[in-house]
Amino acid sequence: MDRVNGLRSFLDKAHSVYHAAALIKEELERAGYCRLQEGNDWQIKAGGKYYLMRNDSSLVAFRLPEGAPKGFLISASHTDRPCFKVKENAVLKGQYTRLAVERYGGMLIAPWLDRPLSVAGRVLVETEDGIQSRLVDIDRDLLLMPNVAIHMNRNANDGYKWNPATDTIPLLGDKETADFWQAVETLAGGRILGHDLYLYVRQPSSVWGMNGEFISAQALDDLQCVWGCAQGFLQAKETGNIPVLCVFDNEEVGSSSYQGAGSDLLESAVSRICAVLGLDKSRQLAGSFLVSADNAHAQHPNHPEYADPANAPVMNGGVVVKFNANQRYTTDGLSAAIFRKICEKANVPVQTYCNRADIAGGSTLGNVSLSQVAVPSVDIGLAQLAMHSCYETAGVKDVGYLVDAMAAYYGAELTTAKDGSFSVK
Ligand code: ZN
Repeated sequence: MDRVNGLRSFLDKAHSVYHAAALIKEELERAGYCRLQEGNDWQIKAGGKYYLMRNDSSLVAFRLPEGAPKGFLISASHTDRPCFKVKENAVLKGQYTRLAVERYGGMLIAPWLDRPLSVAGRVLVETEDGIQSRLVDIDRDLLLMPNVAIHMNRNANDGYKWNPATDTIPLLGDKETADFWQAVETLAGGRILGHDLYLYVRQPSSVWGMNGEFISAQALDDLQCVWGCAQGFLQAKETGNIPVLCVFDNEEVGSSSYQGAGSDLLESAVSRICAVLGLDKSRQLAGSFLVSADNAHAQHPNHPEYADPANAPVMNGGVVVKFNANQRYTTDGLSAAIFRKICEKANVPVQTYCNRADIAGGSTLGNVSLSQVAVPSVDIGLAQLAMHSCYETAGVKDVGYLVDAMAAYYGAELTTAKDGSFSVK
C-alpha cells in the first residue's frame, strides 16, 4: 500500500506537466542528484548523480558508475496529458464570465463536464533579474463546464458531437466577477509576460473496488509510468551501466518540440556524457537499451470486443509488453526476450498487448526516442481503462509491479555478447 500512497501523493500534486516535472526534480534532489545546465561546462565524474531539464517540463537524470561504464540503460515516459489549455485573452465577458480554452491532445471530452476544475501551469513574470518562470496552481474549485439540460438537447444520449468552441468553455463567475489575471499575478508575484496554463480536475485520486483493487486519478497515462520508472531508477542496485531516466513533455501532440522525445535532449545528454568521460559513443550505444513506458489499454469489462482475442491485458495482471508489426511500438523478439528475462528475475508477471488487427490503436514515444538514440528498445506500460479521460482507472497491484520491474531493469547487468545477442544477469 505504501507504493500506491506514494503514487497518489504524486498524482494529487502533479496538476500540470510543469508540476509533474518539478516533483520528479525534487525527488532527485532529495536523493543527491545535481542539476546540470545545458549552457554550462559539465563537470561530471565517476560515481556522480546528475539531471538536466528543458522548458521546466522535460527531464533527463543519470548516474555514473565508479568504474568504466558499460552501456546506457534508458527509460522514457511522458509528463503531459490531454487537457485544455488557457488561451490568450481568455476572459470572456457577457451575462456570465467564462475562460476561453482550447484542446491539448486527443481527449475524451464528456468526462470534463459537470465537475469542478482548476488551473495550474507556469507563468513567465517580470522581475528585477529578468523574466522568470514560476509555477502556479490556483488549487481551489474555480471553474466548471456545465452540460446543456436533456430538455434542451434531447439527442444528448444518442451520440452527441461536442463542439470545443462552444461546449467546453468553462464558467468562471458571474457578470461582475473578480479579475482572473489579477489573481494569477498575485499568486505568481509579478507582472505576467507569458503563460502556459492548463485546466485540471479537482477530484483527487481514489482507491476503490470490493478489495481496493483499482486506482482512479487524472493523468495515470502517463504519470503512473513516470513515477514507477523514477522509483525503479532510484531504487536499483548499482551495476557497471549508466542508468538514464527520461521524462518528456508533448507526447500527446507528437513529441516534436524543443523539449519532446523528438528533440535532441536525450541525444545531446548521451553525446556529452561520452565526450566528457572519453567514451566512444557508438561502442557505448551498442551495449545500450531503452524501455519506453506508456500505459496500455486494459480489456474493457463491457466491451471485450475491442481487444485482440489473445493479447488483451487486464488490470493487476502485471507489466504489459506492447507489440506492433509496423513498429508503432518498438518491441521485437530480442527486446521482448530481454525484458521478459528481467521481469522473471524480479517475479513480475508480464502480459502482452497487440491492437485488434482492424483497429489502428495509438502510438507512443519509443520510436520517436529511437530517432535520436538508436538502441534495442521495448515498449511497455500498465493496463488501464478510459485512456485520455480526465479521470482514468488502473490496477493497484500493477503500481508495485512496474517499480519492481524498473528496479530490476536498471539494476541488471546487461551486456552484449555479440551483435544482436545480450546476456542478462
Ligand atoms: Zn501515454
